[in-house]
Amino acid sequence: MRNRWSTELGRVGLLALLGLGLGLFTPWPLVPVILVLAGYLAWHLYNVARLQRWLYAPGQTEPPQSQGIWEDIFNGLYRHQLRQRKRRKRLNRLIHRFEESAAAMPDATIILGERGVIEWWNSAASRLLGLRHPDDRGQRIHNLVRHPAFTDYLAGEDFGESVEFPSPADARIMLSVRVVRYGRDQRLLLARDVTRLHQLEQMRRDFVANVSHELRTPLTVLAGYIETLQDELAADGADDPVRTRPLELMEQQTTRMRALVDDLLYLSRLEMDGDRGPAPETIDVAAVAEALAEEARQLSGERGHTITVDADPELALRGVPNELRSAFANLVFNAVQYTPAGGTIRIAWTRRPGGGGCFTVTDTGIGIPARHLSRLTERFYRVDVGRSRETGGTGLGLAIVKHILQRHAGWLEVESEAGEGSTFRCCFPVDRVDTAEAVVTKP
Ligand code: ADP
Repeated sequence: MRNRWSTELGRVGLLALLGLGLGLFTPWPLVPVILVLAGYLAWHLYNVARLQRWLYAPGQTEPPQSQGIWEDIFNGLYRHQLRQRKRRKRLNRLIHRFEESAAAMPDATIILGERGVIEWWNSAASRLLGLRHPDDRGQRIHNLVRHPAFTDYLAGEDFGESVEFPSPADARIMLSVRVVRYGRDQRLLLARDVTRLHQLEQMRRDFVANVSHELRTPLTVLAGYIETLQDELAADGADDPVRTRPLELMEQQTTRMRALVDDLLYLSRLEMDGDRGPAPETIDVAAVAEALAEEARQLSGERGHTITVDADPELALRGVPNELRSAFANLVFNAVQYTPAGGTIRIAWTRRPGGGGCFTVTDTGIGIPARHLSRLTERFYRVDVGRSRETGGTGLGLAIVKHILQRHAGWLEVESEAGEGSTFRCCFPVDRVDTAEAVVTKP
Protein backbone atom coordinates (compact mmCIF):
# COMPACT_ATOMS: atom_id res chain seq x y z
CA MET A 1 0.00 0.00 0.00
CA ARG A 2 2.77 2.40 1.03
CA ASN A 3 4.67 1.42 -2.14
CA ARG A 4 1.71 2.39 -4.28
CA TRP A 5 1.51 5.77 -2.60
CA SER A 6 5.24 6.50 -3.02
CA THR A 7 4.96 5.54 -6.72
CA GLU A 8 1.94 7.83 -7.04
CA LEU A 9 3.68 10.72 -5.30
CA GLY A 10 6.78 10.09 -7.43
CA ARG A 11 4.60 10.22 -10.52
CA VAL A 12 3.09 13.60 -9.48
CA GLY A 13 6.57 14.94 -8.72
CA LEU A 14 7.86 13.76 -12.08
CA LEU A 15 4.98 15.38 -13.93
CA ALA A 16 5.54 18.67 -12.08
CA LEU A 17 9.24 18.56 -12.94
CA LEU A 18 8.42 17.81 -16.56
CA GLY A 19 6.09 20.84 -16.63
CA LEU A 20 8.79 23.00 -15.05
CA GLY A 21 11.38 21.76 -17.61
CA LEU A 22 9.05 22.65 -20.46
CA GLY A 23 8.30 26.01 -18.81
CA LEU A 24 11.98 26.99 -19.03
CA PHE A 25 11.63 27.14 -22.82
CA THR A 26 8.54 29.38 -22.73
CA PRO A 27 7.93 32.97 -21.57
CA TRP A 28 5.38 31.62 -18.95
CA PRO A 29 7.28 28.97 -16.99
CA LEU A 30 4.30 27.97 -14.73
CA VAL A 31 1.74 27.39 -17.49
CA PRO A 32 3.07 23.94 -18.57
CA VAL A 33 3.17 22.86 -14.85
CA ILE A 34 -0.50 23.85 -14.43
CA LEU A 35 -1.44 22.09 -17.67
CA VAL A 36 0.33 18.87 -16.65
CA LEU A 37 -1.28 18.88 -13.18
CA ALA A 38 -4.70 19.67 -14.71
CA GLY A 39 -4.27 16.60 -16.94
CA TYR A 40 -3.43 14.53 -13.86
CA LEU A 41 -6.57 15.83 -12.09
CA ALA A 42 -8.68 15.03 -15.17
CA TRP A 43 -7.37 11.43 -15.03
CA HIS A 44 -8.49 11.17 -11.40
CA LEU A 45 -11.93 12.58 -12.19
CA TYR A 46 -12.29 10.12 -15.01
CA ASN A 47 -11.51 7.26 -12.62
CA VAL A 48 -13.98 8.59 -10.03
CA ALA A 49 -16.66 8.60 -12.73
CA ARG A 50 -15.76 4.99 -13.69
CA LEU A 51 -15.88 3.98 -10.02
CA GLN A 52 -19.33 5.47 -9.64
CA ARG A 53 -20.61 3.79 -12.81
CA TRP A 54 -19.18 0.44 -11.69
CA LEU A 55 -20.60 0.68 -8.15
CA TYR A 56 -24.11 1.38 -9.45
CA ALA A 57 -24.00 -1.09 -12.36
CA PRO A 58 -26.63 -3.83 -11.92
CA GLY A 59 -25.38 -7.38 -11.26
CA GLN A 60 -21.94 -8.55 -10.39
CA THR A 61 -19.38 -7.09 -12.86
CA GLU A 62 -15.59 -7.10 -12.88
CA PRO A 63 -14.01 -3.80 -11.81
CA PRO A 64 -12.71 -1.41 -14.55
CA GLN A 65 -9.03 -1.79 -15.48
CA SER A 66 -6.80 1.03 -14.28
CA GLN A 67 -3.31 1.82 -13.14
CA GLY A 68 -1.52 3.03 -10.06
CA ILE A 69 -3.50 3.93 -7.01
CA TRP A 70 -6.80 3.43 -8.89
CA GLU A 71 -5.98 -0.16 -9.76
CA ASP A 72 -5.46 -0.73 -6.05
CA ILE A 73 -8.76 0.95 -5.13
CA PHE A 74 -10.76 -0.98 -7.75
CA ASN A 75 -9.26 -4.34 -6.78
CA GLY A 76 -9.64 -3.68 -3.06
CA LEU A 77 -13.31 -2.75 -3.43
CA TYR A 78 -13.93 -5.75 -5.64
CA ARG A 79 -12.41 -8.13 -3.08
CA HIS A 80 -14.50 -6.51 -0.31
CA GLN A 81 -17.63 -6.87 -2.46
CA LEU A 82 -16.94 -10.57 -3.05
CA ARG A 83 -16.39 -11.17 0.66
CA GLN A 84 -19.64 -9.37 1.53
CA ARG A 85 -21.58 -11.32 -1.06
CA LYS A 86 -20.28 -14.59 0.29
CA ARG A 87 -21.20 -13.60 3.85
CA ARG A 88 -24.69 -12.49 2.79
CA LYS A 89 -25.25 -15.77 0.96
CA ARG A 90 -24.17 -17.76 4.01
CA LEU A 91 -26.48 -15.69 6.21
CA ASN A 92 -29.39 -16.11 3.81
CA ARG A 93 -28.85 -19.86 3.72
CA LEU A 94 -28.84 -19.92 7.54
CA ILE A 95 -32.02 -17.86 7.80
CA HIS A 96 -33.66 -20.04 5.20
CA ARG A 97 -32.66 -23.20 7.05
CA PHE A 98 -33.94 -21.72 10.33
CA GLU A 99 -37.24 -20.75 8.70
CA GLU A 100 -37.61 -24.21 7.19
CA SER A 101 -36.91 -25.97 10.48
CA ALA A 102 -39.19 -23.62 12.45
CA ALA A 103 -41.89 -24.05 9.81
CA ALA A 104 -41.62 -27.85 10.09
CA MET A 105 -42.06 -27.78 13.88
CA PRO A 106 -45.38 -29.12 15.11
CA ASP A 107 -45.44 -26.40 17.79
CA ALA A 108 -46.45 -22.86 16.96
CA THR A 109 -43.55 -20.40 16.92
CA ILE A 110 -44.05 -16.63 16.71
CA ILE A 111 -41.33 -13.99 16.79
CA LEU A 112 -42.56 -10.93 18.64
CA GLY A 113 -40.87 -7.56 18.34
CA GLU A 114 -41.26 -4.47 20.46
CA ARG A 115 -44.61 -4.13 22.29
CA GLY A 116 -45.68 -7.60 21.16
CA VAL A 117 -45.72 -6.85 17.42
CA ILE A 118 -45.82 -10.04 15.33
CA GLU A 119 -42.76 -10.24 13.04
CA TRP A 120 -42.76 -13.83 11.86
CA TRP A 121 -44.62 -17.10 12.50
CA ASN A 122 -44.65 -20.67 11.25
CA SER A 123 -47.50 -22.63 9.72
CA ALA A 124 -48.34 -24.32 13.05
CA ALA A 125 -48.99 -20.83 14.46
CA SER A 126 -51.46 -20.18 11.63
CA ARG A 127 -53.22 -23.44 12.43
CA LEU A 128 -53.16 -23.27 16.24
CA LEU A 129 -53.58 -19.53 16.79
CA GLY A 130 -55.41 -18.60 13.58
CA LEU A 131 -52.80 -16.10 12.29
CA ARG A 132 -53.32 -15.09 8.65
CA HIS A 133 -50.62 -14.35 6.10
CA PRO A 134 -49.77 -11.57 5.38
CA ASP A 135 -52.48 -9.47 7.10
CA ASP A 136 -51.42 -10.24 10.64
CA ARG A 137 -47.77 -9.30 10.19
CA GLY A 138 -47.14 -6.12 12.18
CA GLN A 139 -50.26 -6.59 14.35
CA ARG A 140 -49.90 -6.81 18.13
CA ILE A 141 -50.40 -10.32 19.50
CA HIS A 142 -52.63 -8.88 22.27
CA ASN A 143 -55.14 -7.80 19.63
CA LEU A 144 -55.33 -11.21 17.96
CA VAL A 145 -55.24 -13.60 20.93
CA ARG A 146 -57.67 -12.19 23.44
CA HIS A 147 -58.22 -14.97 25.97
CA PRO A 148 -58.17 -13.38 29.51
CA ALA A 149 -55.65 -15.98 30.77
CA PHE A 150 -53.27 -15.02 27.95
CA THR A 151 -53.82 -11.29 28.43
CA ASP A 152 -53.03 -11.62 32.16
CA TYR A 153 -49.98 -13.75 31.35
CA LEU A 154 -48.56 -11.13 28.99
CA ALA A 155 -49.35 -8.29 31.37
CA GLY A 156 -47.72 -10.17 34.27
CA GLU A 157 -44.37 -10.20 32.42
CA ASP A 158 -43.46 -13.31 34.45
CA PHE A 159 -42.81 -15.95 31.82
CA GLY A 160 -41.32 -18.64 34.10
CA GLU A 161 -44.42 -20.83 33.68
CA SER A 162 -46.66 -21.54 30.71
CA VAL A 163 -50.33 -20.65 30.43
CA GLU A 164 -53.14 -22.87 29.12
CA PHE A 165 -56.23 -21.73 27.22
CA PRO A 166 -58.37 -22.91 24.29
CA SER A 167 -57.16 -22.06 20.79
CA PRO A 168 -58.78 -18.93 19.29
CA ALA A 169 -58.93 -20.82 15.98
CA ASP A 170 -60.68 -23.93 17.32
CA ALA A 171 -62.05 -24.04 20.86
CA ARG A 172 -61.64 -27.85 20.97
CA ILE A 173 -57.87 -27.46 20.87
CA MET A 174 -56.21 -26.78 24.21
CA LEU A 175 -52.96 -24.81 24.02
CA SER A 176 -50.05 -24.51 26.39
CA VAL A 177 -48.31 -21.20 25.62
CA ARG A 178 -44.95 -19.98 26.82
CA VAL A 179 -43.03 -16.80 26.07
CA VAL A 180 -39.21 -16.80 25.98
CA ARG A 181 -37.26 -13.53 26.05
CA TYR A 182 -34.16 -12.98 23.94
CA GLY A 183 -32.11 -10.10 22.50
CA ARG A 184 -33.34 -6.59 23.27
CA ASP A 185 -37.10 -6.60 23.89
CA GLN A 186 -37.50 -9.54 21.50
CA ARG A 187 -39.74 -12.43 22.48
CA LEU A 188 -40.44 -15.86 21.13
CA LEU A 189 -43.93 -17.23 21.69
CA LEU A 190 -44.21 -21.02 21.67
CA ALA A 191 -47.61 -22.74 21.69
CA ARG A 192 -48.15 -26.49 22.00
CA ASP A 193 -51.29 -28.52 21.41
CA VAL A 194 -51.99 -30.22 24.77
CA THR A 195 -55.55 -31.32 23.98
CA ARG A 196 -54.75 -35.01 24.47
CA LEU A 197 -53.04 -34.40 27.81
CA HIS A 198 -55.91 -32.22 28.85
CA GLN A 199 -58.43 -34.91 27.95
CA LEU A 200 -56.47 -37.56 29.87
CA GLU A 201 -56.27 -35.26 32.89
CA GLN A 202 -60.00 -34.65 32.63
CA MET A 203 -60.62 -38.42 32.38
CA ARG A 204 -58.51 -38.98 35.51
CA ARG A 205 -60.46 -36.34 37.41
CA ASP A 206 -63.83 -37.69 36.23
CA PHE A 207 -62.76 -41.22 37.14
CA VAL A 208 -61.71 -40.29 40.67
CA ALA A 209 -64.83 -38.18 41.15
CA ASN A 210 -67.14 -40.93 39.83
CA VAL A 211 -65.52 -43.74 41.80
CA SER A 212 -65.62 -41.67 44.98
CA HIS A 213 -69.22 -40.79 44.35
CA GLU A 214 -70.20 -44.42 43.65
CA LEU A 215 -68.46 -45.61 46.82
CA ARG A 216 -70.35 -43.18 48.98
CA THR A 217 -73.74 -44.98 48.91
CA PRO A 218 -72.51 -48.52 49.74
CA LEU A 219 -70.37 -47.06 52.53
CA THR A 220 -73.35 -45.24 54.01
CA VAL A 221 -75.39 -48.47 53.91
CA LEU A 222 -72.53 -50.41 55.50
CA ALA A 223 -72.04 -47.82 58.22
CA GLY A 224 -75.81 -47.85 58.88
CA TYR A 225 -75.89 -51.66 59.34
CA ILE A 226 -72.81 -51.63 61.55
CA GLU A 227 -74.41 -49.01 63.76
CA THR A 228 -77.65 -51.00 63.97
CA LEU A 229 -75.77 -54.17 64.89
CA GLN A 230 -73.80 -52.28 67.55
CA ASP A 231 -77.03 -50.84 68.96
CA GLU A 232 -78.60 -54.33 69.06
CA LEU A 233 -75.59 -55.77 70.84
CA ALA A 234 -75.64 -52.92 73.31
CA ALA A 235 -79.38 -53.46 73.88
CA ASP A 236 -78.70 -57.18 74.54
CA GLY A 237 -76.16 -56.04 77.12
CA ALA A 238 -73.49 -58.09 75.33
CA ASP A 239 -69.96 -57.02 76.16
CA ASP A 240 -68.33 -60.14 74.71
CA PRO A 241 -65.25 -58.84 72.83
CA VAL A 242 -65.50 -61.71 70.32
CA ARG A 243 -68.73 -60.12 69.08
CA THR A 244 -68.15 -56.43 69.78
CA ARG A 245 -64.50 -56.12 68.62
CA PRO A 246 -65.09 -57.05 64.92
CA LEU A 247 -67.92 -54.53 64.75
CA GLU A 248 -65.71 -51.90 66.34
CA LEU A 249 -62.98 -52.53 63.75
CA MET A 250 -65.55 -52.48 60.92
CA GLU A 251 -66.85 -49.16 62.20
CA GLN A 252 -63.32 -47.69 62.35
CA GLN A 253 -62.53 -48.82 58.81
CA THR A 254 -65.78 -47.56 57.31
CA THR A 255 -65.23 -44.21 59.03
CA ARG A 256 -61.73 -44.07 57.52
CA MET A 257 -63.07 -44.98 54.07
CA ARG A 258 -65.78 -42.36 54.30
CA ALA A 259 -63.22 -39.73 55.27
CA LEU A 260 -61.08 -40.81 52.31
CA VAL A 261 -63.99 -40.70 49.87
CA ASP A 262 -65.09 -37.30 51.20
CA ASP A 263 -61.55 -35.89 50.83
CA LEU A 264 -61.22 -37.33 47.33
CA LEU A 265 -64.54 -35.81 46.29
CA TYR A 266 -63.62 -32.46 47.80
CA LEU A 267 -60.27 -32.48 46.01
CA SER A 268 -61.98 -33.40 42.71
CA ARG A 269 -64.40 -30.54 43.13
CA LEU A 270 -61.59 -28.09 43.79
CA GLU A 271 -59.75 -29.35 40.71
CA MET A 272 -62.79 -29.22 38.48
CA ASP A 273 -63.67 -25.69 39.50
CA GLY A 274 -60.14 -24.60 38.56
CA ASP A 275 -59.87 -20.93 39.39
CA ARG A 276 -63.60 -20.36 39.20
CA GLY A 277 -64.65 -20.94 42.78
CA PRO A 278 -67.62 -19.39 44.56
CA ALA A 279 -67.62 -15.60 44.93
CA PRO A 280 -65.08 -14.42 47.51
CA GLU A 281 -66.12 -12.75 50.74
CA THR A 282 -64.22 -10.81 53.37
CA ILE A 283 -63.35 -13.15 56.22
CA ASP A 284 -62.62 -12.34 59.85
CA VAL A 285 -59.65 -14.70 60.16
CA ALA A 286 -59.06 -13.81 63.82
CA ALA A 287 -62.53 -15.19 64.67
CA VAL A 288 -61.89 -18.31 62.55
CA ALA A 289 -58.57 -18.85 64.38
CA GLU A 290 -60.29 -18.62 67.79
CA ALA A 291 -62.99 -21.09 66.73
CA LEU A 292 -60.40 -23.52 65.37
CA ALA A 293 -58.37 -23.26 68.58
CA GLU A 294 -61.47 -24.23 70.55
CA GLU A 295 -62.12 -27.24 68.28
CA ALA A 296 -58.45 -28.20 68.55
CA ARG A 297 -58.69 -28.14 72.38
CA GLN A 298 -61.62 -30.53 72.19
CA LEU A 299 -59.73 -32.79 69.78
CA SER A 300 -56.70 -32.69 72.06
CA GLY A 301 -58.87 -33.82 74.99
CA GLU A 302 -56.84 -35.59 77.61
CA ARG A 303 -53.61 -35.02 75.77
CA GLY A 304 -53.63 -31.53 77.23
CA HIS A 305 -51.93 -29.52 74.52
CA THR A 306 -51.41 -25.83 75.18
CA ILE A 307 -53.10 -24.04 72.28
CA THR A 308 -52.63 -20.28 71.87
CA VAL A 309 -53.90 -17.76 69.33
CA ASP A 310 -52.19 -14.55 68.24
CA ALA A 311 -54.40 -13.07 65.53
CA ASP A 312 -54.48 -9.49 64.23
CA PRO A 313 -58.18 -8.48 64.50
CA GLU A 314 -57.58 -5.58 62.10
CA LEU A 315 -56.50 -7.88 59.30
CA ALA A 316 -59.15 -9.57 57.17
CA LEU A 317 -58.81 -11.90 54.17
CA ARG A 318 -60.73 -12.03 50.93
CA GLY A 319 -61.68 -15.55 49.86
CA VAL A 320 -64.18 -18.40 50.03
CA PRO A 321 -64.95 -18.87 53.75
CA ASN A 322 -65.60 -22.64 53.69
CA GLU A 323 -62.48 -23.38 51.71
CA LEU A 324 -60.13 -21.26 53.78
CA ARG A 325 -61.61 -22.56 57.00
CA SER A 326 -61.05 -26.11 55.76
CA ALA A 327 -57.41 -25.36 54.80
CA PHE A 328 -56.64 -23.72 58.16
CA ALA A 329 -58.44 -26.53 60.04
CA ASN A 330 -56.30 -29.13 58.26
CA LEU A 331 -53.13 -27.48 59.54
CA VAL A 332 -54.44 -26.98 63.09
CA PHE A 333 -55.77 -30.56 63.40
CA ASN A 334 -52.55 -31.99 61.92
CA ALA A 335 -50.63 -30.09 64.59
CA VAL A 336 -52.79 -31.72 67.27
CA GLN A 337 -52.39 -35.17 65.68
CA TYR A 338 -48.64 -34.97 65.25
CA THR A 339 -47.76 -33.33 68.59
CA PRO A 340 -47.30 -35.58 71.63
CA ALA A 341 -49.38 -34.93 74.75
CA GLY A 342 -48.47 -31.77 76.64
CA GLY A 343 -46.98 -30.06 73.58
CA THR A 344 -47.68 -26.49 72.49
CA ILE A 345 -49.52 -25.34 69.36
CA ARG A 346 -49.47 -21.68 68.36
CA ILE A 347 -51.93 -20.30 65.83
CA ALA A 348 -51.13 -16.86 64.37
CA TRP A 349 -52.67 -14.55 61.77
CA THR A 350 -50.35 -11.64 61.08
CA ARG A 351 -49.19 -9.24 58.37
CA ARG A 352 -46.30 -10.36 56.18
CA PRO A 353 -43.25 -8.09 56.28
CA GLY A 354 -43.48 -7.59 52.49
CA GLY A 355 -47.28 -7.01 52.53
CA GLY A 356 -50.19 -9.46 52.63
CA GLY A 357 -50.82 -11.86 55.49
CA CYS A 358 -49.93 -15.32 56.81
CA PHE A 359 -51.92 -17.86 58.80
CA THR A 360 -49.28 -19.78 60.76
CA VAL A 361 -49.54 -22.95 62.82
CA THR A 362 -46.47 -23.83 64.89
CA ASP A 363 -46.21 -26.98 66.98
CA THR A 364 -43.65 -28.64 69.19
CA GLY A 365 -44.49 -32.04 67.69
CA ILE A 366 -42.63 -34.89 66.05
CA GLY A 367 -41.42 -32.70 63.16
CA ILE A 368 -40.63 -33.82 59.61
CA PRO A 369 -37.18 -34.77 58.26
CA ALA A 370 -36.00 -32.29 55.60
CA ARG A 371 -36.06 -34.83 52.74
CA HIS A 372 -39.87 -35.16 52.98
CA LEU A 373 -40.70 -31.45 52.99
CA SER A 374 -40.90 -30.91 49.22
CA ARG A 375 -43.31 -33.83 48.78
CA LEU A 376 -45.76 -33.20 51.62
CA THR A 377 -48.50 -31.74 49.39
CA GLU A 378 -48.55 -34.75 47.05
CA ARG A 379 -51.67 -36.89 47.32
CA PHE A 380 -51.33 -39.77 49.80
CA TYR A 381 -47.79 -38.75 50.70
CA ARG A 382 -47.14 -39.57 54.33
CA VAL A 383 -43.93 -39.33 56.27
CA ASP A 384 -44.94 -42.27 58.44
CA VAL A 385 -47.78 -44.30 56.91
CA GLY A 386 -48.48 -46.25 60.10
CA ARG A 387 -48.73 -43.13 62.22
CA SER A 388 -50.94 -41.30 59.72
CA ARG A 389 -53.36 -44.27 59.67
CA GLU A 390 -53.37 -44.41 63.45
CA THR A 391 -54.42 -40.78 63.61
CA GLY A 392 -57.14 -41.36 61.00
CA GLY A 393 -55.31 -39.29 58.35
CA THR A 394 -56.20 -39.76 54.69
CA GLY A 395 -52.91 -38.40 53.30
CA LEU A 396 -54.96 -35.87 51.30
CA GLY A 397 -55.10 -33.01 53.81
CA LEU A 398 -52.10 -31.02 52.61
CA ALA A 399 -52.98 -31.66 48.93
CA ILE A 400 -56.33 -30.03 49.68
CA VAL A 401 -54.61 -27.14 51.47
CA LYS A 402 -52.34 -26.55 48.47
CA HIS A 403 -55.28 -26.49 46.04
CA ILE A 404 -57.30 -24.12 48.18
CA LEU A 405 -54.33 -21.77 48.53
CA GLN A 406 -53.72 -21.83 44.77
CA ARG A 407 -57.30 -20.71 44.22
CA HIS A 408 -56.63 -17.78 46.57
CA ALA A 409 -53.32 -16.74 44.98
CA GLY A 410 -51.68 -17.99 48.18
CA TRP A 411 -48.89 -20.43 48.92
CA LEU A 412 -47.78 -22.84 51.64
CA GLU A 413 -44.46 -22.54 53.45
CA VAL A 414 -43.26 -25.37 55.68
CA GLU A 415 -40.36 -25.34 58.13
CA SER A 416 -39.71 -28.35 60.26
CA GLU A 417 -37.09 -30.29 62.12
CA ALA A 418 -37.48 -33.91 63.11
CA GLY A 419 -38.11 -34.19 66.85
CA GLU A 420 -38.36 -30.40 67.31
CA GLY A 421 -41.67 -29.39 65.72
CA SER A 422 -43.09 -27.80 62.58
CA THR A 423 -44.35 -24.52 61.24
CA PHE A 424 -46.94 -24.47 58.45
CA ARG A 425 -47.63 -21.05 56.97
CA CYS A 426 -50.43 -20.14 54.53
CA CYS A 427 -49.44 -16.83 52.96
CA PHE A 428 -51.53 -14.47 50.85
CA PRO A 429 -50.52 -11.52 48.66
CA VAL A 430 -51.31 -7.94 49.51
CA ASP A 431 -54.34 -7.72 47.20
CA ARG A 432 -56.01 -10.57 49.12
CA VAL A 433 -55.93 -8.96 52.55
CA ASP A 434 -58.33 -6.31 53.71
CA THR A 435 -59.10 -4.16 56.74
CA ALA A 436 -61.42 -5.41 59.47
CA GLU A 437 -64.07 -2.77 58.57
CA ALA A 438 -64.74 -4.65 55.36
CA VAL A 439 -65.98 -7.60 57.44
CA VAL A 440 -68.31 -5.39 59.47
CA THR A 441 -69.85 -3.77 56.40
CA LYS A 442 -70.35 -7.15 54.74
CA PRO A 443 -74.06 -7.71 53.95
P1 ADP B 1 -52.60 -36.98 56.80
O1 ADP B 1 -54.04 -37.11 56.54
O2 ADP B 1 -51.83 -38.25 56.70
O3 ADP B 1 -52.30 -36.16 57.99
P2 ADP B 1 -51.69 -34.69 55.28
O4 ADP B 1 -51.71 -34.46 53.82
O5 ADP B 1 -52.47 -33.76 56.14
O6 ADP B 1 -52.10 -36.18 55.48
O7 ADP B 1 -50.18 -34.66 55.75
C1 ADP B 1 -49.21 -35.40 55.03
C2 ADP B 1 -48.15 -35.89 55.96
O8 ADP B 1 -47.40 -34.79 56.46
C3 ADP B 1 -48.67 -36.59 57.18
O9 ADP B 1 -48.88 -37.94 56.92
C4 ADP B 1 -47.57 -36.37 58.19
O10 ADP B 1 -46.60 -37.38 58.03
C5 ADP B 1 -46.97 -35.05 57.78
N1 ADP B 1 -47.44 -33.92 58.64
C6 ADP B 1 -48.43 -33.05 58.39
N2 ADP B 1 -48.55 -32.14 59.37
C7 ADP B 1 -47.60 -32.44 60.27
C8 ADP B 1 -47.17 -31.85 61.50
N3 ADP B 1 -47.79 -30.77 62.03
N4 ADP B 1 -46.14 -32.43 62.16
C9 ADP B 1 -45.52 -33.50 61.65
N5 ADP B 1 -45.86 -34.10 60.49
C10 ADP B 1 -46.87 -33.58 59.80
